[in-house]
Amino acid sequence: MFKANQNYSILPESYLFSEVAKRIKEYRDSHPDKEIVRMDIGDVSLPLPQVVVEALCNASREMGESATFHGYGPEQGYLFLREKIAENDYHNRGLLHIDADDIFISDGAKSDLGNLGDLFGPDMRIAVAEPGYPVYVDANVLAGRGGRLADGRWSGFTYLECTPENKFIPVIPDHKVDVIYLCYPNNPTGASMTREELKKWIDYAIENKALIIFDSAYEAYVRDENIVRSVYEVDGAEKVAVEIRSFSKTAGFTGVRCGYTVVPRSLDFTFPDGHRASLNKMWNRRQSTKFNGVGYIIQKAAEALYTPEGRKAIKENIDYYMRNAGLLREALLGKGWEVVGGENSPYVWTAPKLHSSTAALTSWELFRRLLDDLQISSTPGSGFGACGEGWIRLTGFNSYEKTLQAIDRLKTLK
Ligand code: PLP
Repeated sequence: MFKANQNYSILPESYLFSEVAKRIKEYRDSHPDKEIVRMDIGDVSLPLPQVVVEALCNASREMGESATFHGYGPEQGYLFLREKIAENDYHNRGLLHIDADDIFISDGAKSDLGNLGDLFGPDMRIAVAEPGYPVYVDANVLAGRGGRLADGRWSGFTYLECTPENKFIPVIPDHKVDVIYLCYPNNPTGASMTREELKKWIDYAIENKALIIFDSAYEAYVRDENIVRSVYEVDGAEKVAVEIRSFSKTAGFTGVRCGYTVVPRSLDFTFPDGHRASLNKMWNRRQSTKFNGVGYIIQKAAEALYTPEGRKAIKENIDYYMRNAGLLREALLGKGWEVVGGENSPYVWTAPKLHSSTAALTSWELFRRLLDDLQISSTPGSGFGACGEGWIRLTGFNSYEKTLQAIDRLKTLK
């Protein structure tokens, strides 16, 4: 008899984004004359750079000729792209110990963040920062590592609370954990981590033989020299950390789908029977078994990002979103609200101070107030975990004009 994976029944519906969309739709339907400014979006708004479009077209034409047609490619990704990544994203930044053989091309960060759990033993203790990107928790719950759910938290996880007190940088746990998910610059809080802060985590992982999964989907937004772009900027990280990168927010690839995962060959752990386990070999085996690689056309498009035109286009895109985020940040600070992010991150995380009959508004009440009073949509912070209560996430990903419109409206709010 077929029995379905029970973990699918215990995992609550992903509620946040569908609920935001539902409430925006309801508001639109009942106020057809009002125009909502979407400050909740996590998707990019600028189109693909021209150099990428040309690479897509050229590669498509190659696929139409028998002399240049490409069938199945390497599961790890084409060497032409892995070498460009190693050279530009690591070697040229002084990270000489990361090579093409450590890099696996993916169809975006989300898949690999979800799939890496295939390499973990069933009883691994998982630590996740809260608030956080939901995939870390949900993928591990589906794999049976969640335990019981009570008051929005799973017994199988260690929640690393990120609060204004610790400036949204988690504190090292006082007990042993086996896998730690870190995301910097962070979604949703926009907080970023210095090398010194990250070093504490690398030291902890080395001491406790733990694995760090470092999600750096937003590394391209880092401007400050002291802020970490790659986990491998800290010595020893190549022994304990996997890094996940994406071209989604860097170059508008959210609909194209391409990213990469770095699993250094120096990452060694042990199997329960005591044998040495190379995580790089295991991930290679996993990918060769369950994944047939990213399309040639897509990888050629990603390669185009490493040309001078590609780099220029990325810089222009990031500057555009960062101008939005910076303006938003300034405007909210000007209102006396607590603000995080918007400096090395496209997200601005804020706890609005509104004159209200009730003392402190919940995230959903804040969402409602901004929508009702200003026709601005936001993402309620509590949707990313209990620590997000009382906060909302606003985005730098809308257009410049819409961002200015949102700021003008926010200024009128009492
Ligand atoms: N990681 C974080 C922190 C994100 O915010 C996102 C997307 O919003 C992803 C990963 C997924 O990116 P991708 O489009 O590469 O799957």
